[in-house]
Amino acid sequence: MPDPRTSKINLLGLSKWKLEEIMARLGEKPYRADQILKWIHQRDHSDFETMTDLSKSLRSRLGETAEIHEPEVIMAKVSGDGTRKWLIKTLSGSSVETVFIPEDTRGTLCVSTQVGCMLDCSFCATGKQGFDANLKSWEIIGQLRIARRELAKIYPERERVITNVVMMGMGEPLFNFASVMDALDLMMHDMAYGLSKRRVTLSTSGVVPGIYKMAGKTDASLAISLHAPNDELRNQLVPINRKYPINDLLDACRHYLSTLGEKRNITVEYILLAGINDQPEHAMELARLLRGFPCKINLIPFNPFPGSGYKRPSNISVKGFQRRLIEKEFSVTVRTTRGEDIQAACGQLVGEVKDKTRRSERYILRQKLSKKELEQRPIVSAGYS
Ligand code: SAH
Ligand code: SF4
Repeated sequence: MPDPRTSKINLLGLSKWKLEEIMARLGEKPYRADQILKWIHQRDHSDFETMTDLSKSLRSRLGETAEIHEPEVIMAKVSGDGTRKWLIKTLSGSSVETVFIPEDTRGTLCVSTQVGCMLDCSFCATGKQGFDANLKSWEIIGQLRIARRELAKIYPERERVITNVVMMGMGEPLFNFASVMDALDLMMHDMAYGLSKRRVTLSTSGVVPGIYKMAGKTDASLAISLHAPNDELRNQLVPINRKYPINDLLDACRHYLSTLGEKRNITVEYILLAGINDQPEHAMELARLLRGFPCKINLIPFNPFPGSGYKRPSNISVKGFQRRLIEKEFSVTVRTTRGEDIQAACGQLVGEVKDKTRRSERYILRQKLSKKELEQRPIVSAGYS
């Protein structure tokens, strides 16, 4: 679909198949799509005139009808621990956040898929902002293109700085299905970013029909935000559970894995909220629930934000929860909190959302957030528009 601003088609977010369709319409051979993908994503070019292996006439026709347009970066921040965050302006006029987390042996980019979120998980700052819009596929892949360029300047000696991408930023990826599938395709395609399917992960709160739809369309890794060992508790923490309960969610995951044709695991994310879901009996119930389910468990100590009403458990309690599961022979990691000083940790991403649901107003009223507390939400209060 042409961009309403320019009436030109933006090629940035198009999967190989969609580019091939465009080439066919222009009477060109399919391999032209590979060439264009390489120019856009590997060589980082945005001007058709510099794409020297395309014929002159193709270059000029593309110049008339198409463009390579990237979202704009409004602000960049770096944390004391090396974590970086970019605030990216969206077509809808709001902004979203993208986070890069460097580690010894890998570098993970956490991308957003929606402006805000339609769901309202009780522990999530994004959810409290309500929802504005789905990101276009070019706005999703644009986050990777921008981050890779910026990081190449910071780490010039490294060949590949971003080794992993996780769709764990703002939004529920399976509610923006088509754009997310196109972006995943580009992330993993050899002619584009060439990331391994084991290193590109979509995280969902449990949109069961979306998981069934993924089968056959992608082979990216899948993470589910479980967060509770039973429906009663999960209904309170992750409201979508009332529609798609735990057993349906686990069945959908088994189905997805069965379509991948090789042994893969689901990542089960489990946030730890002090006194709510972090007790020894929760660990034991979780072990019973997941017995025989092909997974690794990732524990996420809660990242606080003003007015959330939850607390992060102590390190001892987190370790105890992990030990109980390891004793039951699960593979269990604890997500270290990164980038907290710049509000870049999981669940702290807020961007600036023009909330169409008006949930944010209700939240602010409900929580009776003081003006001072609101000012502590750095990016929202920074006055970007
Ligand atoms: N909507 C998707 C992906 C984005 S959220 C999902 O819910 O899976 C990415 C992860 O961050 C999820 O596991 C989510 O539950 C977790 N998260 C949300 N708020 C958090 C918080 N305050 N502290 C720690 N993790 C949080
Ligand atoms: Fe949305 Fe995920 Fe946050 Fe739930 S945890 S409100 S699904 S972004």
